Amino acid sequence: MSQEMECMCQQCGMSSHIAEGEIVLEDPVDVESKLLSNLLVCQNCGGQLVLVGKAGDEPHYRLK
Ligand SMILES: [Zn+2]
Repeated sequence: MSQEMECMCQQCGMSSHIAEGEIVLEDPVDVESKLLSNLLVCQNCGGQLVLVGKAGDEPHYRLK
């Protein structure tokens, strides 16, 4: 069973669902930013993605 994670583009705001096993964080030490590696970019504009949370969960940014 492959859990999907929700990631959001920093430039255009489009969210993408990426399989958990394919996600590579830019800097695993920096847990605050959760930037994804530039191997994984927005399919819409090529911008950098930020990990939001598990797909289907209520994302943190919507609660603010
Ligand atoms: Zn984008």
